[in-house]
Amino acid sequence: MFNIDSNTESLFRPSQELPKGDDAVWKNHRFCWRSADTWVPQLSAWLTPKFHKDGIRRLKPGHFRNLPWDDLEWLDLLGRCLTSDIQYHTETLADALEPSTLRTFHGCRTDDAGRYFREGLHLHDRDAMTQRLTAIVEKNDELAWMRSRLDDAIAEINSTLDIGCLYVVADDTALLEYAAHYLIYGSEWITAVLGYGRRALLKTGVPTLIEVDLPLRVTTPDTRVEFARKMLGEWTRRACNLPDWHAPIDFSFCLRENIPPAWVVGHSHPAQLRDPLERQKLYQSPRTRCAHCSSDS
Ligand SMILES: [Zn+2]
Repeated sequence: MFNIDSNTESLFRPSQELPKGDDAVWKNHRFCWRSADTWVPQLSAWLTPKFHKDGIRRLKPGHFRNLPWDDLEWLDLLGRCLTSDIQYHTETLADALEPSTLRTFHGCRTDDAGRYFREGLHLHDRDAMTQRLTAIVEKNDELAWMRSRLDDAIAEINSTLDIGCLYVVADDTALLEYAAHYLIYGSEWITAVLGYGRRALLKTGVPTLIEVDLPLRVTTPDTRVEFARKMLGEWTRRACNLPDWHAPIDFSFCLRENIPPAWVVGHSHPAQLRDPLERQKLYQSPRTRCAHCSSDS
Protein backbone atom coordinates (compact mmCIF):
# COMPACT_ATOMS: atom_id res chain seq x y z
CA MET A 1 0.00 0.00 0.00
CA PHE A 2 1.19 3.52 -0.84
CA ASN A 3 2.52 5.27 2.25
CA ILE A 4 4.55 8.39 1.49
CA ASP A 5 6.19 8.56 4.91
CA SER A 6 7.44 4.98 5.04
CA ASN A 7 8.45 5.03 1.36
CA THR A 8 10.35 8.29 1.87
CA GLU A 9 12.08 6.80 4.87
CA SER A 10 13.04 3.70 2.82
CA LEU A 11 14.34 5.86 -0.02
CA PHE A 12 16.58 8.04 2.11
CA ARG A 13 17.60 5.57 4.86
CA PRO A 14 20.58 4.14 2.89
CA SER A 15 21.95 7.68 2.51
CA GLN A 16 21.59 8.78 6.13
CA GLU A 17 25.30 8.42 6.93
CA LEU A 18 26.35 10.42 3.86
CA PRO A 19 26.89 14.20 3.79
CA LYS A 20 23.82 15.92 2.36
CA GLY A 21 24.08 18.01 -0.78
CA ASP A 22 27.83 17.65 -0.83
CA ASP A 23 29.77 16.96 -4.04
CA ALA A 24 32.23 15.04 -1.84
CA VAL A 25 29.95 11.97 -2.00
CA TRP A 26 31.30 11.45 -5.53
CA LYS A 27 34.98 12.02 -4.74
CA ASN A 28 36.91 8.80 -5.43
CA HIS A 29 33.57 7.02 -5.43
CA ARG A 30 33.31 3.84 -7.53
CA PHE A 31 29.96 2.80 -8.86
CA CYS A 32 28.25 0.52 -11.33
CA TRP A 33 25.07 1.45 -13.22
CA ARG A 34 23.40 -1.94 -12.83
CA SER A 35 24.10 -2.02 -9.06
CA ALA A 36 21.79 0.72 -7.82
CA ASP A 37 23.03 0.38 -4.26
CA THR A 38 26.41 1.71 -5.43
CA TRP A 39 25.01 5.08 -6.51
CA VAL A 40 21.35 5.64 -5.57
CA PRO A 41 22.18 6.39 -1.88
CA GLN A 42 24.87 8.86 -2.97
CA LEU A 43 22.47 10.56 -5.35
CA SER A 44 19.74 10.64 -2.68
CA ALA A 45 22.15 12.39 -0.29
CA TRP A 46 23.33 14.76 -2.99
CA LEU A 47 19.73 15.69 -3.94
CA THR A 48 18.32 16.04 -0.41
CA PRO A 49 18.83 19.80 0.15
CA LYS A 50 17.87 20.55 -3.45
CA PHE A 51 14.22 19.57 -2.94
CA HIS A 52 11.49 22.19 -2.62
CA LYS A 53 10.01 22.21 0.85
CA ASP A 54 7.05 20.28 -0.56
CA GLY A 55 9.23 18.51 -3.18
CA ILE A 56 8.98 15.07 -1.61
CA ARG A 57 5.18 15.36 -1.47
CA ARG A 58 5.21 16.17 -5.20
CA LEU A 59 7.57 13.26 -5.94
CA LYS A 60 5.48 10.78 -3.90
CA PRO A 61 8.14 8.09 -3.36
CA GLY A 62 6.64 4.64 -3.84
CA HIS A 63 3.74 5.95 -5.93
CA PHE A 64 3.81 3.95 -9.19
CA ARG A 65 3.86 5.93 -12.45
CA ASN A 66 2.92 4.07 -15.61
CA LEU A 67 5.83 5.38 -17.68
CA PRO A 68 8.43 3.51 -19.77
CA TRP A 69 11.83 3.42 -18.09
CA ASP A 70 13.33 5.72 -20.75
CA ASP A 71 10.54 8.30 -20.72
CA LEU A 72 11.83 11.88 -20.38
CA GLU A 73 8.90 12.55 -18.04
CA TRP A 74 10.92 10.99 -15.19
CA LEU A 75 13.37 13.87 -15.39
CA ASP A 76 10.59 16.45 -15.71
CA LEU A 77 8.88 14.97 -12.67
CA LEU A 78 12.05 15.36 -10.61
CA GLY A 79 12.48 18.89 -11.98
CA ARG A 80 9.08 19.85 -10.58
CA CYS A 81 10.24 18.76 -7.13
CA LEU A 82 13.56 20.62 -6.97
CA THR A 83 14.59 24.20 -6.48
CA SER A 84 16.18 25.68 -9.65
CA ASP A 85 15.59 24.05 -13.01
CA ILE A 86 16.53 20.49 -13.85
CA GLN A 87 19.12 21.49 -16.45
CA TYR A 88 21.04 23.37 -13.76
CA HIS A 89 21.00 20.35 -11.45
CA THR A 90 21.97 18.03 -14.30
CA GLU A 91 25.01 20.14 -15.15
CA THR A 92 25.95 20.49 -11.49
CA LEU A 93 25.76 16.72 -11.04
CA ALA A 94 27.87 16.22 -14.18
CA ASP A 95 30.58 18.42 -12.64
CA ALA A 96 30.29 16.67 -9.28
CA LEU A 97 30.76 13.27 -10.96
CA GLU A 98 34.14 14.23 -12.42
CA PRO A 99 36.24 12.68 -9.61
CA SER A 100 34.20 9.43 -9.55
CA THR A 101 34.85 6.14 -11.32
CA LEU A 102 32.25 4.16 -13.26
CA ARG A 103 32.40 0.45 -14.13
CA THR A 104 32.18 0.30 -17.94
CA PHE A 105 32.32 -2.44 -20.58
CA HIS A 106 33.99 -3.08 -23.92
CA GLY A 107 33.14 -5.88 -26.33
CA CYS A 108 35.79 -7.63 -28.42
CA ARG A 109 36.90 -11.03 -29.73
CA THR A 110 40.28 -12.24 -28.59
CA ASP A 111 42.36 -15.36 -28.01
CA ASP A 112 43.88 -13.85 -24.90
CA ALA A 113 42.16 -11.25 -22.74
CA GLY A 114 45.43 -11.07 -20.79
CA ARG A 115 46.61 -8.72 -23.53
CA TYR A 116 44.19 -6.09 -22.19
CA PHE A 117 45.40 -6.58 -18.63
CA ARG A 118 49.00 -6.15 -19.85
CA GLU A 119 48.57 -3.41 -22.47
CA GLY A 120 45.22 -1.75 -21.75
CA LEU A 121 42.82 -0.80 -24.55
CA HIS A 122 44.05 1.28 -27.45
CA LEU A 123 42.42 3.90 -29.66
CA HIS A 124 41.36 2.79 -33.14
CA ASP A 125 44.59 3.07 -35.17
CA ARG A 126 43.66 2.67 -38.84
CA ASP A 127 47.18 1.67 -39.95
CA ALA A 128 47.37 -1.05 -37.31
CA MET A 129 43.84 -2.21 -38.17
CA THR A 130 44.68 -2.34 -41.87
CA GLN A 131 47.71 -4.52 -41.09
CA ARG A 132 45.54 -6.83 -39.01
CA LEU A 133 42.91 -7.01 -41.76
CA THR A 134 45.56 -7.77 -44.38
CA ALA A 135 46.96 -10.57 -42.22
CA ILE A 136 43.45 -12.06 -41.82
CA VAL A 137 42.84 -11.99 -45.58
CA GLU A 138 46.25 -13.53 -46.28
CA LYS A 139 45.76 -16.31 -43.75
CA ASN A 140 42.26 -17.42 -44.75
CA ASP A 141 41.91 -19.19 -48.09
CA GLU A 142 38.18 -18.51 -48.26
CA LEU A 143 39.11 -14.82 -48.45
CA ALA A 144 41.57 -15.34 -51.34
CA TRP A 145 39.13 -13.55 -53.65
CA MET A 146 39.62 -10.40 -51.59
CA ARG A 147 43.39 -10.32 -51.81
CA SER A 148 43.58 -8.41 -55.09
CA ARG A 149 40.78 -6.04 -54.21
CA LEU A 150 41.35 -5.32 -50.55
CA ASP A 151 42.22 -1.67 -51.17
CA ASP A 152 38.94 -1.23 -53.07
CA ALA A 153 36.98 -2.93 -50.27
CA ILE A 154 38.55 -0.56 -47.74
CA ALA A 155 37.79 2.45 -49.93
CA GLU A 156 34.16 1.33 -50.31
CA ILE A 157 33.66 1.39 -46.55
CA ASN A 158 35.39 4.77 -46.37
CA SER A 159 34.57 5.23 -42.71
CA THR A 160 36.83 7.45 -40.68
CA LEU A 161 34.39 7.81 -37.79
CA ASP A 162 36.17 5.52 -35.37
CA ILE A 163 39.72 6.67 -36.03
CA GLY A 164 41.29 7.91 -32.80
CA CYS A 165 38.30 6.72 -30.76
CA LEU A 166 37.72 4.04 -28.19
CA TYR A 167 34.24 3.13 -26.97
CA VAL A 168 33.13 1.76 -23.64
CA VAL A 169 29.52 1.47 -22.47
CA ALA A 170 27.91 2.20 -19.10
CA ASP A 171 25.71 -0.90 -19.11
CA ASP A 172 26.52 -4.26 -20.64
CA THR A 173 22.84 -5.25 -20.96
CA ALA A 174 22.17 -3.25 -24.14
CA LEU A 175 25.60 -4.15 -25.55
CA LEU A 176 24.96 -7.88 -25.18
CA GLU A 177 21.37 -7.76 -26.41
CA TYR A 178 21.62 -5.38 -29.35
CA ALA A 179 25.28 -4.90 -30.28
CA ALA A 180 26.81 -8.32 -29.67
CA HIS A 181 28.56 -8.16 -33.07
CA TYR A 182 31.46 -6.44 -31.26
CA LEU A 183 31.95 -9.64 -29.26
CA ILE A 184 31.10 -12.09 -32.04
CA TYR A 185 33.32 -10.57 -34.76
CA GLY A 186 35.61 -8.08 -33.00
CA SER A 187 36.43 -4.85 -34.82
CA GLU A 188 33.38 -3.29 -36.44
CA TRP A 189 35.53 -1.77 -39.20
CA ILE A 190 37.22 -5.07 -40.14
CA THR A 191 33.80 -6.76 -40.06
CA ALA A 192 32.37 -4.12 -42.39
CA VAL A 193 35.25 -4.37 -44.90
CA LEU A 194 35.01 -8.17 -45.00
CA GLY A 195 31.25 -8.15 -45.60
CA TYR A 196 30.03 -11.77 -45.76
CA GLY A 197 33.67 -12.80 -45.49
CA ARG A 198 33.36 -11.80 -41.82
CA ARG A 199 32.60 -15.44 -40.99
CA ALA A 200 36.36 -16.04 -41.22
CA LEU A 201 36.61 -14.01 -38.01
CA LEU A 202 34.71 -16.74 -36.15
CA LYS A 203 37.53 -19.26 -36.57
CA THR A 204 39.78 -17.74 -33.93
CA GLY A 205 39.32 -15.97 -30.63
CA VAL A 206 36.57 -15.98 -28.03
CA PRO A 207 33.74 -13.44 -27.62
CA THR A 208 34.88 -11.31 -24.70
CA LEU A 209 33.46 -8.65 -22.44
CA ILE A 210 36.15 -6.49 -20.87
CA GLU A 211 35.37 -4.60 -17.67
CA VAL A 212 36.98 -1.19 -17.20
CA ASP A 213 36.87 1.09 -14.17
CA LEU A 214 36.67 4.40 -15.99
CA PRO A 215 37.59 7.62 -14.15
CA LEU A 216 34.90 10.00 -15.39
CA ARG A 217 37.45 12.82 -15.51
CA VAL A 218 38.59 11.42 -18.90
CA THR A 219 35.11 11.82 -20.38
CA THR A 220 33.89 15.03 -21.99
CA PRO A 221 31.71 17.45 -19.99
CA ASP A 222 28.89 17.04 -22.54
CA THR A 223 28.93 13.25 -22.19
CA ARG A 224 28.89 13.58 -18.40
CA VAL A 225 25.85 15.85 -18.64
CA GLU A 226 24.07 13.20 -20.74
CA PHE A 227 25.02 10.52 -18.23
CA ALA A 228 23.92 12.70 -15.29
CA ARG A 229 20.55 13.04 -17.06
CA LYS A 230 20.26 9.22 -17.17
CA MET A 231 21.13 8.96 -13.48
CA LEU A 232 18.55 11.54 -12.42
CA GLY A 233 15.83 9.93 -14.56
CA GLU A 234 16.60 6.46 -13.24
CA TRP A 235 16.81 7.72 -9.64
CA THR A 236 13.29 9.16 -10.02
CA ARG A 237 11.93 5.94 -11.58
CA ARG A 238 13.42 3.94 -8.71
CA ALA A 239 12.09 6.36 -6.10
CA CYS A 240 8.55 6.12 -7.51
CA ASN A 241 8.12 2.63 -8.97
CA LEU A 242 10.44 0.70 -6.64
CA PRO A 243 11.47 -1.64 -9.49
CA ASP A 244 13.59 -4.72 -8.91
CA TRP A 245 15.39 -4.26 -12.25
CA HIS A 246 17.72 -1.62 -13.65
CA ALA A 247 17.11 0.47 -16.76
CA PRO A 248 19.11 -1.10 -19.64
CA ILE A 249 20.56 2.14 -20.99
CA ASP A 250 22.39 2.21 -24.31
CA PHE A 251 25.09 4.67 -23.30
CA SER A 252 28.57 4.95 -24.82
CA PHE A 253 31.59 6.95 -23.78
CA CYS A 254 33.78 7.86 -26.76
CA LEU A 255 37.30 8.21 -25.39
CA ARG A 256 40.18 10.00 -27.05
CA GLU A 257 42.96 8.38 -25.07
CA ASN A 258 44.13 4.84 -24.46
CA ILE A 259 42.86 2.96 -21.42
CA PRO A 260 45.84 1.95 -19.27
CA PRO A 261 46.12 -1.61 -17.94
CA ALA A 262 45.38 -0.49 -14.36
CA TRP A 263 41.80 0.40 -15.31
CA VAL A 264 41.08 -3.05 -16.75
CA VAL A 265 39.50 -4.96 -13.87
CA GLY A 266 37.81 -8.04 -15.28
CA HIS A 267 36.61 -10.03 -18.25
CA SER A 268 34.09 -12.71 -19.15
CA HIS A 269 33.08 -14.84 -22.14
CA PRO A 270 29.31 -15.04 -22.78
CA ALA A 271 28.35 -18.48 -24.09
CA GLN A 272 25.37 -17.32 -26.16
CA LEU A 273 24.78 -14.10 -28.06
CA ARG A 274 22.26 -12.76 -30.56
CA ASP A 275 23.96 -11.75 -33.81
CA PRO A 276 22.55 -8.42 -35.08
CA LEU A 277 24.27 -8.99 -38.44
CA GLU A 278 22.39 -12.30 -38.87
CA ARG A 279 18.89 -11.12 -37.92
CA GLN A 280 19.46 -11.76 -34.24
CA LYS A 281 20.23 -15.43 -34.83
CA LEU A 282 21.56 -17.21 -31.78
CA TYR A 283 25.35 -17.50 -31.82
CA GLN A 284 26.73 -20.24 -29.62
CA SER A 285 30.35 -19.59 -28.77
CA PRO A 286 32.46 -22.72 -29.33
CA ARG A 287 34.71 -21.70 -26.44
CA THR A 288 34.17 -19.78 -23.21
CA ARG A 289 37.77 -19.66 -22.06
CA CYS A 290 40.73 -17.71 -23.44
CA ALA A 291 44.45 -18.14 -22.84
CA HIS A 292 44.20 -15.81 -19.84
CA CYS A 293 41.42 -17.91 -18.25
CA SER A 294 43.48 -21.05 -18.79
CA SER A 295 46.60 -19.47 -17.27
CA ASP A 296 44.56 -18.69 -14.12
CA SER A 297 43.58 -22.30 -13.52
ZN1 LIG B 1 39.31 -15.38 -20.68
